[in-house]
Amino acid sequence: MSSHLMGVYNRAPLEVDRGRGVRLWSTDGTEYLDCVSGISTNALGHANPVLVQAVKDQAEKLWHVSNIFKIPGQEKLADDLCANSFADVVFFTNSGTEAVECALKTARKFHSANGAPERIDIYGFDGSFHGRTYGAINAAANPSYTEGFGPPMEGFHQLKWGDREALEAALKNPTTAAVILEPVQGEGGCRVTPDEDLRWLRRTADENGVLIIFDEVQCGMGRTGKLWAHEWAGAAEPDIMAIAKALGGGFPIGACLATERAASGMTAGVHGSTFGGNPLAMAVGQAAFGELVKPELLAHVNEIAGYLRQQLHGLQQRYPDIIVDVRGKGLLIGVKLVPNNREFMGWARDEQHLLVAGGGDNLVRILPPLNITLEEAREAIEKFEGACAFARTKLEG
Ligand code: PLP
Repeated sequence: MSSHLMGVYNRAPLEVDRGRGVRLWSTDGTEYLDCVSGISTNALGHANPVLVQAVKDQAEKLWHVSNIFKIPGQEKLADDLCANSFADVVFFTNSGTEAVECALKTARKFHSANGAPERIDIYGFDGSFHGRTYGAINAAANPSYTEGFGPPMEGFHQLKWGDREALEAALKNPTTAAVILEPVQGEGGCRVTPDEDLRWLRRTADENGVLIIFDEVQCGMGRTGKLWAHEWAGAAEPDIMAIAKALGGGFPIGACLATERAASGMTAGVHGSTFGGNPLAMAVGQAAFGELVKPELLAHVNEIAGYLRQQLHGLQQRYPDIIVDVRGKGLLIGVKLVPNNREFMGWARDEQHLLVAGGGDNLVRILPPLNITLEEAREAIEKFEGACAFARTKLEG
């Protein structure tokens, strides 16, 4: 046995030592341009001085107390999140999957607390990813994550993404509790739900008494160029939303946001967490969120996203034998490839020292920190082009 770690990760042969901004260095001193950002997590870059200071200050003051006490940092971050979203209340977690878990429980509990305990059905979509807990894998219902883990959980169903007829039938089903959707899919292929479809979903869910859960763990917190991805659609606010990743800028935090009505079943004692909302996480969360809501950061995301998209479309024209499609929204960019995406990621890493993430549908995802400069974005494009040229020699050779 070469490692005592459980072998659940297919790890790249890169031992990471330290990072700053958009740069990462391996233990052998090699510098990389990091367009993975911990998969949409280090949204403010590595070792961001504002976040580092927040950790240091809070570490000297108080790390952890139980949720049996009042934690002022939780109140403050919840105030900030609610002031900047549809939500009235927040439950803090340590990860995205826990935020999803809370969202699913909140939806079912709403119905049982409001006289409709038969409403237990939750509909997710193919190509979605909601994390690795039992609720989350059942909600996404991707066979590669559910197989071998026992029978499917009762009341979870998968719809084909984009199949409005099937969705309408699900919404009209009198036992439906909620639908769960990533407005912009991350892992599953960077597919963007059209704005009109989100507005239609909101209207039809309301007509049928069904709750909407958005999973913005990956696409939220400014990644698409608005604070929340669903904001692009206008009148399409969810009842419940799971967030995490960028919320802590790399420090583990998640949150389940809900309207007061949707959370009406979540009364004292029905849910909880030891670490969720601990003072250290809340201090970093406040610091990160304070940066992420700045209009100038969101304007910057849109500017850089426009540049990258234009350049990537240019590359697609010059390398039609390598690039099939460019998708996504804002700085959640998916590039669908002809060569195997895993192989391409290796070529980009080893030949160009550019780090990109994989994704479903043979994509590589470009997920730079939101504060990447235009100059760094240019460098990313040069390196991506270098990787395309290398891929061409491989395919031809
Ligand atoms: N939801 C989405 C959309 C995600 O992309 C992820 C993680 O990639 C999760 C949920 C799960 O988050 P975590 O890995 O923090 O549990």
